[in-house]
Amino acid sequence: MYSYKEFFLRYLGQTSPEPLLIQVERAEGVFLYGPAGERYLDLVSGVSVSNTGHANPRIIDAVRRQAEAYLHIMVYGEFIQSPQVRYAELLVSLLPENLNCIYFVNSGSEAVEGAIKLTRRHTGRTEVVYFSNAYHGSTYGALSVQGSDLFRSAFGPLLPDTVMAGFNDRSVAGMITEKTAGVIVEPIQAEAGVILPDPGFLQLLRERCDETGALLIFDECQTGFGRTGTMFAMERYEVVPDILILAKALGGGMPLGSFIASGSIMKSLSFNPALGHITTFGGHPVCCAAGMASLQTLMEEELVAGVVSKGQRFRSRLRHDLITEVRGEGLLLAVRLRDAGKARYVVSNAPRYGFVTDYFLFCPDSFRIAPPLSITNDEIDEACNMIIQLLDEAVKA
Ligand code: PMP
Repeated sequence: MYSYKEFFLRYLGQTSPEPLLIQVERAEGVFLYGPAGERYLDLVSGVSVSNTGHANPRIIDAVRRQAEAYLHIMVYGEFIQSPQVRYAELLVSLLPENLNCIYFVNSGSEAVEGAIKLTRRHTGRTEVVYFSNAYHGSTYGALSVQGSDLFRSAFGPLLPDTVMAGFNDRSVAGMITEKTAGVIVEPIQAEAGVILPDPGFLQLLRERCDETGALLIFDECQTGFGRTGTMFAMERYEVVPDILILAKALGGGMPLGSFIASGSIMKSLSFNPALGHITTFGGHPVCCAAGMASLQTLMEEELVAGVVSKGQRFRSRLRHDLITEVRGEGLLLAVRLRDAGKARYVVSNAPRYGFVTDYFLFCPDSFRIAPPLSITNDEIDEACNMIIQLLDEAVKA
């Protein structure tokens, strides 16, 4: 008998000693289905990707139609590819005035690489300020601004001239100087365990960047596209960055990333030297078509408007002796338990109860609630019942 589990473990490079090992045959709405018809309510969305639900018919249709027209035809930036142009135009119409020029790439990590290169090239400076417990991706530039000494020391030496500041620590003001090229921050830190910025913290970064001529970069890979109850998290803090990074839900389930700036800043990558950032598959036409269909669905079905009350519904139902806090905004929530062992128990036993959840990279005592934004009230109630039952079991475990 062909064993997918055995061959998954044998032939695929592993990311950890304990993969979740759920086999998925198909997915629809908020559910994943296994080969024997097992049904799992998805509280992860592939890590904040599937905001408009799995197997969304509009996205599938857009993918099919673009695949029939053309797949890859040329590296990014040479040919006029209508899905890129149309999607860029739609995105710009939703963004603050200065964020009017979109550079499409393949992933969040590649967008971070592009953004760091752009800040250095545009300012002529080298230093980049980043924050404790920040996660921006796994490539070398992104790893160099990752706020974890464990990961940094395992793979060093990293990029020089990077400076770590404490998230929400206002002494960062003194670390942003005339030597700073850019400051990279998640407006809401996701993998840190959904940590919100203190009032005025993002404004402080904006002010110091304005005073010193550094560029402010917001990484909204996880918080973008309605996840926290506004289309982008920056809207709730009324701070506009110089560069915005989007990925994950940007592609509607297909791989797509982008960094976005003003046309005049973005120009720096196209001369002296020209071709400052080249990407073969960046802005793949099928991914842009899928992303645009997903964003149109988000807008036309007014999915973002329901996110805050759905998050509140989770909060009001998630009451249990083991839960010490439910933290976050909208449908990006961290459920904190009494200890990390209980959180591990929940993540590994959730499939047995009919749902999937996940860890946060830097927050071992919490598990994740980030379902597709299309989740219904009944599905939320079902998810909460399963969680409470599993927590009852975890108390005794
Ligand atoms: N930035 C943030 C905030 C992320 O959460 C992630 C992925 N978890 C990335 C960047 C990297 O994205 P990718 O995995 O697409 O490279």
